[in-house]
Amino acid sequence: MKIIELYGGEVPLLSLEIFPPKADYPLDTVFETLDHLIDLNPGFISVTYGAGGSNQARTVEIAARIKKEYGIESLAHLTCVRHTRAEVDGILDELIKEEINNILALRGDLPEDDPNFDINQQEYRYAFELIKDIHKKAEFGIAAAAYPNGHTECLRLKDDLINLKHKVDCGVDFLITQFFFDNRIYYDFMDKITSIQINCPVVPGIMPVLNARQIKRMLYLSGASIPGKLLKLLDKYGDDPANMEKAGIEYASSQVQDLIANKVPGIHLYTMNKYRQITEIVKNVGLA
Ligand code: FAD
Repeated sequence: MKIIELYGGEVPLLSLEIFPPKADYPLDTVFETLDHLIDLNPGFISVTYGAGGSNQARTVEIAARIKKEYGIESLAHLTCVRHTRAEVDGILDELIKEEINNILALRGDLPEDDPNFDINQQEYRYAFELIKDIHKKAEFGIAAAAYPNGHTECLRLKDDLINLKHKVDCGVDFLITQFFFDNRIYYDFMDKITSIQINCPVVPGIMPVLNARQIKRMLYLSGASIPGKLLKLLDKYGDDPANMEKAGIEYASSQVQDLIANKVPGIHLYTMNKYRQITEIVKNVGLA
């Protein structure tokens, strides 16, 4: 089944992102988390993919087991940078074999630690090229990434929107956003993208801030900005992990509540493989 068919109900569709455990950790640790997360009855679960690195086979295996063992649709992330077309073709064969019907088609981040890396020497430079290849290969449901704060590499937000429009026009069913901490940024983004006729569902991605240390790296990677309200919580509870976690759960819950009140098509939670805190948020907002 294509995931796009699940959108459009009365209640926003809940979806969850998990990541495969590192190569030296047993694969089963993620299934211990999933055993709890499935109680939240998500519409689908997405599984991240390590761009150009380790763990890639694990994405396919976990996505396949989510479907077979839990009967829940899975969305396999797939990044194309540093892959050849032949490699991507092989991964698509694997997905077909495992009966995974939905892909989050991504470019992947450019490597920071390789001074010789040249994007122009790559077989894939942008996600839209991957999307075209997936369509040529088979009937997959395709999602892609969107950045309400603008993608970090793009110098002008306007260009980022033009690139997004082109990507969607290559055949994207729905978009999932990078996380943001101020819902006004998402609402403003929606106004801009509807004005350029991007009409597919744009599902807000929410990342709960559960500890103060995690936030710096998150901001760096995502290009998200931090509103004063959240900064205040970080100042107050930065050295108090228990209360920081409590405040982070409350903050994410109120973000989600506001999004639901504003009729978003779905809520995508970046779980960071933490089921207890995610369960609390989902229950707080009445989605479980
Ligand atoms: P693209 O859509 O290709 O965009 C990348 C940049 O290129 C943007 O600045 C865009 O404006 C620009 N661009 C696009 N098209 C053109 C064009 N035609 N001409 C000029 N410029 C252009 N990373 C992982 O490694 N693994 C994951 O599992 C993963 N999951 C993610 C899930 C979500 C929901 C999101 C939001 C991000 C995820 N990422 C993941 C991060 C993502 O790979 C990076 O943000 C990456 O840098 C961009 O990927 P993209 O698919 O958005 O790229």
